Amino acid sequence: MSARGNDGGPALHVRGTLLPSGERRDLWLVGDRLTFAPVAGALTVADEGYILPGLVDAHCHLGIQPGGRPSDGIDQARSLAVVDRDAGVLAIRDAGSPIPYASLDDDPDVPRLVRAGRHVAPPKRYLRDIGVEVGEADLPGEITRQAGLGSGWVKLVGDWIDRGVGDLAPAWDVAAMAGAIEAAHAAGARVAVHTFAEESVAALVRAGVDSVEHGTGLNESDIDEMARRNTALVPTMINIATFGGIAAQAEDKFPAYARHMLTLRDRFPSIVRAAHEAGVPIYVGSDAGGGIDHGLAAEEMLLLHREAGLPAEAVLRAGSWGAREWLGFPGLVEGGLADLVVYSEDPRTDLTTLLRPRRIVLRGRVVR
Ligand SMILES: [Zn+2]
Repeated sequence: MSARGNDGGPALHVRGTLLPSGERRDLWLVGDRLTFAPVAGALTVADEGYILPGLVDAHCHLGIQPGGRPSDGIDQARSLAVVDRDAGVLAIRDAGSPIPYASLDDDPDVPRLVRAGRHVAPPKRYLRDIGVEVGEADLPGEITRQAGLGSGWVKLVGDWIDRGVGDLAPAWDVAAMAGAIEAAHAAGARVAVHTFAEESVAALVRAGVDSVEHGTGLNESDIDEMARRNTALVPTMINIATFGGIAAQAEDKFPAYARHMLTLRDRFPSIVRAAHEAGVPIYVGSDAGGGIDHGLAAEEMLLLHREAGLPAEAVLRAGSWGAREWLGFPGLVEGGLADLVVYSEDPRTDLTTLLRPRRIVLRGRVVR
């Protein structure tokens, strides 16, 4: 390990209260690694405050531009990632991208990334031009292909409006869902599934999906099964708050769907709370991309606290160290990655401090 910082300058020194331990410590960032062993000549970039290994947005889309079209290219995806980074998000799981951008994986200006390939959906049952659309016969093969295009994840659409039925309906039959999950796991990828409805999520959880995205259709029995299997839930509360607008637009043509969406929205905070209490691992996802702006991970954390009633420490775990561990990015430990954000106040007693990062260091370089 060189004793230099990651931008070729001196190593960096930070002092403050480390979370979650709450210990006051000194740490040094040498290259792209963290050490608690003192480094001579280091540049002190913060000497008080509360230190997190950065926030995590575990569900957003760098490949979808504001308005919902695919991003124009890698430069636009990078600029969206930088918006997140400047809000203190230092690790991202891209939950489905219509454009490939693997070259950003090691970009020094971009948060740590894990990526799904494209959303995999049945024909005409998802947002136009965003997913790859296949019939059930081609599903396992497409999942295998998308596992190769992502980095560790695939994204499966589990349900969507069926215009013939006039309501949400499963995207696949139960055997096809199970086959898709099996194909992903055989390819070494974990499966994130988009699901709003009841029937589909019940089947997907029992078929062994790795993370439930949104999950508005969960019931108590599904939650118990998720806890038993250690299946993650990424509630995307900001997205669920848009269900009112979706329902209003759909009301004339699809009144049952509109009512269903409002019912799902209204019961959701209690579902998230019940999942937390049952021991389901919950992670923060803003669902930025398309209709939701980037840079809102801290707002999502506030919603988990205020609306779903998760305790502050659980919210911090969901949006910082716990989520990093889940995605495979070591935090504030000896030899961990050189990512951190310093806040003025203790986020355990005031989560709103997350809206005001005081110092951001990504990959051993000071961002601000
Ligand atoms: Zn999404």
